Amino acid sequence: MRSGRFPAFLSTILKNKLTYRVASLALRCFGGRMCPYQLAAAKGVISELGDAYSARKPVIFASAFVPTEIVYGLGAVPYLPEMWSGFAAAFGVSERGIDESEAKGYSQDLCSFHRCHLGLEELSLLPRPSAIIVSPHLCDGGRRSLYAHSVSAGCPFYVIDVPYVMTDSSVRWLSLQVERICEDISRRVPGLGLDRMGRAIENSNRARKIYLDVCQLRRNEPAPWSGSEALNYVFAFLSGWGSEWLIELYESLANVLKHRIEESRYPVPQERLRLLWLNLKPYYKSSLFEYLERSGVSIAFEEYSYVYWPEMDERRWAEGIAIKMLTNFGWGPIERRLDAVWKMVSDYQVDGVVQFDQWGCRQSNGGGRVLADFLREKGIPFLELDGDAVDPRNSSLAQALTRLQAFVEVMDARRQQARGAHLLSSLTRITQERGRDQQDDHRWN
Ligand code: SF4
Repeated sequence: MRSGRFPAFLSTILKNKLTYRVASLALRCFGGRMCPYQLAAAKGVISELGDAYSARKPVIFASAFVPTEIVYGLGAVPYLPEMWSGFAAAFGVSERGIDESEAKGYSQDLCSFHRCHLGLEELSLLPRPSAIIVSPHLCDGGRRSLYAHSVSAGCPFYVIDVPYVMTDSSVRWLSLQVERICEDISRRVPGLGLDRMGRAIENSNRARKIYLDVCQLRRNEPAPWSGSEALNYVFAFLSGWGSEWLIELYESLANVLKHRIEESRYPVPQERLRLLWLNLKPYYKSSLFEYLERSGVSIAFEEYSYVYWPEMDERRWAEGIAIKMLTNFGWGPIERRLDAVWKMVSDYQVDGVVQFDQWGCRQSNGGGRVLADFLREKGIPFLELDGDAVDPRNSSLAQALTRLQAFVEVMDARRQQARGAHLLSSLTRITQERGRDQQDDHRWN
C-alpha cells in the first residue's frame, strides 16, 4: 500500500472518466446486495466524484462547517478536504499524505485531517477547485490549509466571518456576506449561478425533515443503527445538504431502521449500556468499536449527527444559511455545547459520554474540562479518549482499549448502583404501604 507507485496509480484511476462509468454500472448490477441506504450513499458519492474529477461541473472546496446548500445552489460540486482525509484513512493512504505534507514543512501540530489533504494534493489526488469557501468559526486550521490549496490552484478564496453571538444584526451581517460571496463566485466561475439556490434549500429542508425521523428512530432501545457505521455517515451529514442524494439516503435509512425495530434485528442485540460519542473516530481499521459491541455497548448517537438549525425559507436563503451557521452549538459560549450535549444525553438515554480527542482539534478538546465538570455534576460518566482519526501512528490502540474497558466498568457500576437504589426505594415504598394497610385493618377491627 505504501509503495511509491500506489498514489500515482490512484491518481490515474480517480481522474479517468471510465472509472465512474464502471463504478455506476457495478452498482446497477450488484447494488441489490447492499443495504438501500448504503447504495444511495455510494451512488451519491460516485456521481459527485465523477463530476469533480472529470471536471463535468465546477468544484468548490469548502471547509467542514460551510453549509453545502450554497455550493449545490450555485450548481457546483462540494468537496470537503477533511472528509476526504477520512476516506484516505479508510483506504490506507492517509499515512502517505501526512508524510508528504510533513516533508513540505507543515507542522505536526496541525490536525491530521488538514495535514493529510495537503499531502494528498502533493500526490495529485485532489480534483481542481474553481473556488474555495472557508468558515473558520469552529476550525481555525481549515482556513490556513485551504488557503494553501487556493494558492496552488490559483482560484478565488473566500472566508466567511461568523459573529460570535446570535443577534438580529449578526444574522443580517452574516447573510449579507453569504449573499455577496455567492454572487461573486457566480460572476467569476463560468457555469455557476444563483438560480438553483431555492431548490437546494428545498432539498435541504426535505432531507432535514426525514432525518429528524431517523433521529427519533435512533432513540429506540436497543439502538437500531451501529454507532461506528453512523460515524462513517457523518460525511453525508457534513457534505450532502442541498443535494438530491441525501434525501434518498435518509429515506432509505429511515425505512431500514423502522424494519429493524419491527423485526427486533439490532446491531447489538444484548445491549446493556448506551453511549453518546463526541467528535469523530479513527477512520482506519480499529478494534475499539468491535470491543464495545462485544461488550454489549451501543453508541446510541453522535454529536456530529445532531440537527441544531431550524428549517430555512427558500426565498430568504442567505438568511437561512446565516442562521444555520450561527446556531452551530460548537460556536459561541460553551454553554451552548453543554445544552446540546445534555439534550442528546437525555433524548438517547445514554449511560456515558465519550469524547474522541482528535490530536490538534482545539474546538472540541478545548471544552473537555468544562464538559467533564458539567457531566460529573449530572452524574454521567465521561471519558476523553486521546487519539488520531486519520494517522494510525499517532494513536495507541492498547491504551485506548484499556481506558475504554475501565470506562465500561464505571458505567456498569453506576447502573448497578442506580438499580440498587431503585430496588431499595421500591422496597421502602412497599413496606410503608403494608404498614399503612395493617394500621387500617387494625382500626376497622
Ligand atoms: S477534527 Fe477539529 S481541527 Fe480537525 S478538521 Fe475537524 S474541526 Fe478541524
